[in-house]
Amino acid sequence: MKNIRNFCVIAHIDHGKSTLSDRLLEFTKTIDKRNMVAQTLDNMDLERERGITIKSHAIQMRYVHTDGEVYVFNMIDTPGHVDFSYEVSRSIAACEGALLLVDASQGIQAQTISNLYLAIEHDLEIIPVLNKIDMESAMIDEVSDQIIDLIGCTKEDILLASGKTGIGIQEIMTAVVNRVPAPKGDPEAPLQALIFDSVFNSFRGVIAYFRILNGRMRKGEKVRFFHTSKEYEVDELGILQMNLIPQPYLEAGNVGYIITGIKESREIKVGDTITNAINPCTEAIHGFEDVKPMVFAGLFPIDNDDFEDLRDSLEKLQLNDASLVFEPETSVALGFGFRCGFLGMLHLEIIQERLSREFNMEVITTVPNVSYFATNTKGEAFPVRTPADLPDPNYLQEVQEPYIRAQIITKPEYIGTIMTLCMEKRGILTRQTYLTTYRVELTFELPLAEIVFDFYDRLKSISRGYASFDYSMIDYRASDLVKLEIKLNGENVDALSALVHRSKAESFGRKICTRLKELLPRQQFLIAIQAAVGAKIIARETISALRKDVTAKCYGGDISRKRKLLEKQKEGKKKMRQIGSVEVPQKAFLDVLKLT
Ligand code: GDP
Ligand code: MG
Repeated sequence: MKNIRNFCVIAHIDHGKSTLSDRLLEFTKTIDKRNMVAQTLDNMDLERERGITIKSHAIQMRYVHTDGEVYVFNMIDTPGHVDFSYEVSRSIAACEGALLLVDASQGIQAQTISNLYLAIEHDLEIIPVLNKIDMESAMIDEVSDQIIDLIGCTKEDILLASGKTGIGIQEIMTAVVNRVPAPKGDPEAPLQALIFDSVFNSFRGVIAYFRILNGRMRKGEKVRFFHTSKEYEVDELGILQMNLIPQPYLEAGNVGYIITGIKESREIKVGDTITNAINPCTEAIHGFEDVKPMVFAGLFPIDNDDFEDLRDSLEKLQLNDASLVFEPETSVALGFGFRCGFLGMLHLEIIQERLSREFNMEVITTVPNVSYFATNTKGEAFPVRTPADLPDPNYLQEVQEPYIRAQIITKPEYIGTIMTLCMEKRGILTRQTYLTTYRVELTFELPLAEIVFDFYDRLKSISRGYASFDYSMIDYRASDLVKLEIKLNGENVDALSALVHRSKAESFGRKICTRLKELLPRQQFLIAIQAAVGAKIIARETISALRKDVTAKCYGGDISRKRKLLEKQKEGKKKMRQIGSVEVPQKAFLDVLKLT
């Protein structure tokens, strides 16, 4: 155990975690240089295409130190985007140390700070690494000073590195050996292992990733999962390299995987403790706090018959993404589906994509909203997660909406435009601190609803990328919230209802109406598109009638062509949803939300 080092790589997004991880894998010959691709650990297609890490990735390396001693390194590369910080916090629980990377050309950014705090909370040894020093724009002295200020280390503690050229890799290895403590724990005690991630494999069933705190896990023995109290035989266990490498046993301090033949996603819970069935430990490990979803939206299968398949897919996805939550929901327009909770809009987008790629499930998403609290006139308080939950205004006493504290780090010349943006988003500036002459930290209190949609993108564009952003929940505050309804020829389309602040209702309603006008095909009759708050119509568009018989041009023509045309039309109908008399293409539900 004294030669094991468990550490994670944390940083703000794009500061070079995945690239530096590549160099460490190469240096330790964990991967052959021939098989090396950039950001090797980002093994999901989606991660490669977008160039971002979505999942944490654990991998084991054997490192021969300069004195000839052999070490086992379990390294976890983590995502940097704020939506995935839950992934980071779980990875941290499996480690004793963290490489904190800071891009030398960018300096300390918002997630540098929030990830650092996560690591400190878990008592990890922090190794600061000034990365990308090969860049011409690297500001080595300035950023070193920022790091010293932030973590209170000395200049000598900071390692200089470049994941691109490989500078500093040996120094990082040495620092991991010398500074990250070896894991503690008693291999002779009863087994106690923490599940920090899991994945569903269609051939092998559920694969759970764990960190053993105490005891040993052996192949063939019976283990018990605390959460369900169910017992299973260990079919296979082993270590995580580029592939799963089976082992006869693993003991305290190690990171590995276990396969027990569990096929049901529900039977495994990330954060659960695995122990021995015959000689169990007395207590479960203090797992992870449940995540609090920030954004809610309904997901509906395109074909109503796929409802059970969608449930199954969501359950399997949940194994690999413990932050996803869902419960059944029904919509008049869309039928049976699920109300799902997400950590943010990027998370929602990724879930949608993963459902499509990994499970072949195409879904329709309803207008996302945050979670509110309402109090009715009887004084009863309840959560509002969908527009349908909001009581009639006559019975409504008060609605409260979630507020966040946002930290924005930027250059002084962007303060003005950022202030304007935040005020438009109903924000209040509470603090302004100069970190150095060229970097200022702004703290705002903002309604969460205003930042989940396009805030981050707009912030990046108005600051030309020189603003980083992080946030945390503070409280709920009274809000003038209304339900915006969309009607087609007077018929409510529940899937397009939205919860919005009264001051934003009109502009939002207008946008949706205009967009629907572009998206809906003309039909045999006139279509009125309306946005309403209560009885009041606040926006309106009209689509004029179409007077054409699709088969008209076939008159006198051959009958098979006519039949084909009708069949094609029927096929097209399947992709339509009937709202009263109006047919709405599935695609319209998807596209109407792309408001920007
Ligand atoms: P992550 O989001 O922290 O995992 O960052 P990535 O490893 O995906 O890198 C983000 C971008 O920075 C990519 O375009 C890399 O090619 C680039 N990059 C990473 N490390 C270095 C470095 O040391 N020097 C330079 N010049 N570019 C780097
Ligand atoms: Mg990455």
